[in-house]
Amino acid sequence: MARRRQIYEGKAKVLFEGPEPGTIVQHFKDDLTAFNAKKKGVAAGKGVLNNRISEYLMLRLAEVGIPTHFIRRLNMREQLVRQVEIIPVEVVVRNIAAGSLAKRLGIDEGTTLPRSIVEYYYKSDDLDDPMVSEEHITAFGWATPQELDDIMSMALRINDFLSGLFLGVGIRLVDFKIEFGRLWNDDEMRVVLADEITPDSCRLWDLQTNECMDKDRFRRDLGKIEEAYQEVARRLGVLPESGPGDVKGPKLVQ
Ligand code: UDP
Repeated sequence: MARRRQIYEGKAKVLFEGPEPGTIVQHFKDDLTAFNAKKKGVAAGKGVLNNRISEYLMLRLAEVGIPTHFIRRLNMREQLVRQVEIIPVEVVVRNIAAGSLAKRLGIDEGTTLPRSIVEYYYKSDDLDDPMVSEEHITAFGWATPQELDDIMSMALRINDFLSGLFLGVGIRLVDFKIEFGRLWNDDEMRVVLADEITPDSCRLWDLQTNECMDKDRFRRDLGKIEEAYQEVARRLGVLPESGPGDVKGPKLVQ
C-alpha cells in the first residue's frame, strides 16, 4: 500500500490525507502534553480510547443537529473526517471554576459558576494561546460576526447536551475546549464542529467523589491516567472489548 501523505503532526494527533478529496484521517496518539508542550508524557492506549470517545460524542451531537466534521471511525486509532478550514480560535465553555479561570480570577476550584461562560483563545503556540474577545476575533478577521454568532450558539448547545450526557453516567462536565472549521459544499459554506472532544480537552469530575478523570491527572501528576480515560470510555459504553491496547489480548476460555 502506498504511504499516506502526512498533512500535519500535532501534540496528540497526526493528520493524513484521506482516501477521497476533501477528507482527512485523524490518527490519535498516546502522547500527552501540557503547558504548551513544556511537559510531555505518554499514556499507553490513550489514543485508542480518545478515538472512541470522540467518535461517540460527535455522533451523539450530530443526532441532535450539531454539524460536525466526523464521518466514521476507520480503526482502533483512526477516524475519517471532512477537511475543514480551521477557525484559529479555541472556544472554551465553563460550568464550574477550574484551571486558568480559578487562578486568574481567584475563584475557588469547584465553585459552580452563576451561568455557563464562553471564552475565546487565539490559536498560537508562539503566543501561548492568548485569551481574546469577540472584538479581536472580528476585527482581525479570524471569524465574521455571523460565524461567531453561530459558534457561540453551537458552543452553548454542545455544553447543554454534553453536560446532560455526562451527568447521566455520573460525571460533571466542568469545562471543555472545542474548535470549529469552515466546510464548503459547492458555493455554500457552513461552520461545523471539528477537532476532537476527549478527556484531553475536557475537565471531567466524578459526580460522587469529585475525582478528576481527565488530562489534569497528567498536568498535576496525579497518576492513573490510563485508568481514568478507560473509566470515562467504560461509562459511555465505548470501551473497546479488548481493552485500549492495539492488539487483542488473550480471551479467557470459560
Ligand atoms: N484546554 C485544551 N487545550 C488548551 C487549553 C485548554 O483542551 O490548549 C481545555 C482544558 O483541558 C480545559 C479547558 O480547556 O478543559 C479550560 O482550560 P483552562 O483555560 O482552564 O486552561 P488550563 O488550566 O488547561 O491551562
